[in-house]
Amino acid sequence: MTFSFTSEQQAFLDTVRQFAETRVAPRAAELDATGIYPRALVDEAAALGLMGLTVSTEHGGAGRDYVTYAAAIEIVSAASATLAVILTVNNSLVAEAIEQFGTPLQQETWLSRLARGQAIGSFALSEADAGSDAANQQTVARLDDRGYVINGRKVWVANAEVADVAIVFAATEPDARGRGISAFLVPLDARGITRVPSPESLGVRGLGCVDLELTDVRVDAMARLGEPGRGFRVAMRALEGGRVAIAAQALGVGQAALEEALRYSRARHAFGQPIGNFQAIQFQLADIATELSAARMLTWKAADTRDRAPRATLESSMAKLHASEAAHRAADRAMQILASAGYTRGSLVERLFRDVRAAEIYQGTSEVQRMIIAEHILS
Ligand SMILES: Cc1cc2nc3c(=O)[nH]c(=O)nc-3n(C[C@H](O)[C@H](O)[C@H](O)COP(=O)(O)OP(=O)(O)OC[C@H]3O[C@@H](n4cnc5c(N)ncnc54)[C@H](O)[C@@H]3O)c2cc1C
Repeated sequence: MTFSFTSEQQAFLDTVRQFAETRVAPRAAELDATGIYPRALVDEAAALGLMGLTVSTEHGGAGRDYVTYAAAIEIVSAASATLAVILTVNNSLVAEAIEQFGTPLQQETWLSRLARGQAIGSFALSEADAGSDAANQQTVARLDDRGYVINGRKVWVANAEVADVAIVFAATEPDARGRGISAFLVPLDARGITRVPSPESLGVRGLGCVDLELTDVRVDAMARLGEPGRGFRVAMRALEGGRVAIAAQALGVGQAALEEALRYSRARHAFGQPIGNFQAIQFQLADIATELSAARMLTWKAADTRDRAPRATLESSMAKLHASEAAHRAADRAMQILASAGYTRGSLVERLFRDVRAAEIYQGTSEVQRMIIAEHILS
């Protein structure tokens, strides 16, 4: 067991940090204020290999291990949680699923373009009545002699405002729940697709979330990703990686909150001294730093498991659960330390406070993670 990066990993992470600090951080407030999808920034990230970090070099990716990926996502997220989420969707939820389950033709069509950022991917699982209960798919894919016809509505599909392709999950055996769902690679310029803006979100603004309305969308049988009726497995495998990445994304926000709280504790004076001299402030800083450090260990452990073992279900759920809640507490405590300066609209801590909250909701709420963890430890 080792807790240090190789010089090669460190050199890459230094490059990512330089990008995050010089290119991403200066634009993060504007991205939050406008909520406009940061296409130019995504292109810059793609040039560094960040859109296909975990995709093999054979398929045009950077071929990085999951620990390096998690560390890179944390660094980007400390500058902009939004950009970090965009990267995680493309990497973990779309490209990795195609690499793991795609046919050679599907891989040839999509993988290197996704990994290089020449195409953008999205993951369309959630529906109005299929959030935590994701097996309750009301979108239906009917097979005929020319392929599948898909009808339904997907909600909150990140990246999909600009994406070229979505992995769309649909019931192919409508009453069989998780055992009757198939996954499809649907080009988003297909006839019958309408992109409807999702409700405005509190944080992680600029994710390009839209609802996808699918009306008689026709795809040929070759568009199915994985076995018929086994699409739920595709979704769950993708979410395992995605949850490690969201743990890292939450950590980045928590780390940014800690750094801002430390800066302010040194700079702000009350009663004739820096507030960092008061034990009440010191204890909050100590708790934030300790909780984030523990969350980082869980995240790296989950990432390492993802690299080495066939499954990382338990580890990824534990990492996401703990990191998202620890980062939420970090942002909350940072706001208390900055007090009115943190509660000010447009302040860094105010944005972090809004951004961090989503990590306890998307890719499975904290309750869903606890359900998965309990099922594992009880079995
Ligand atoms: C910013 C953002 C981006 C998103 N991006 C995507 C995306 O790209 N693709 C995609 O497919 N989806 C996406 N989503 C959707 C997201 O995955 C869902 O919102 C999430 O899974 C929760 O579903 P829900 O909102 O319908 O909540 P519900 O499932 O309705 O849950 C409501 C509450 O009930 C709790 N609950 C539900 N069932 C149980 C139970 N059995 N036991 C205990 N508690 C329970 C939940 O934990 C929650 O607290 C996104 C959401 C957001 C906010």
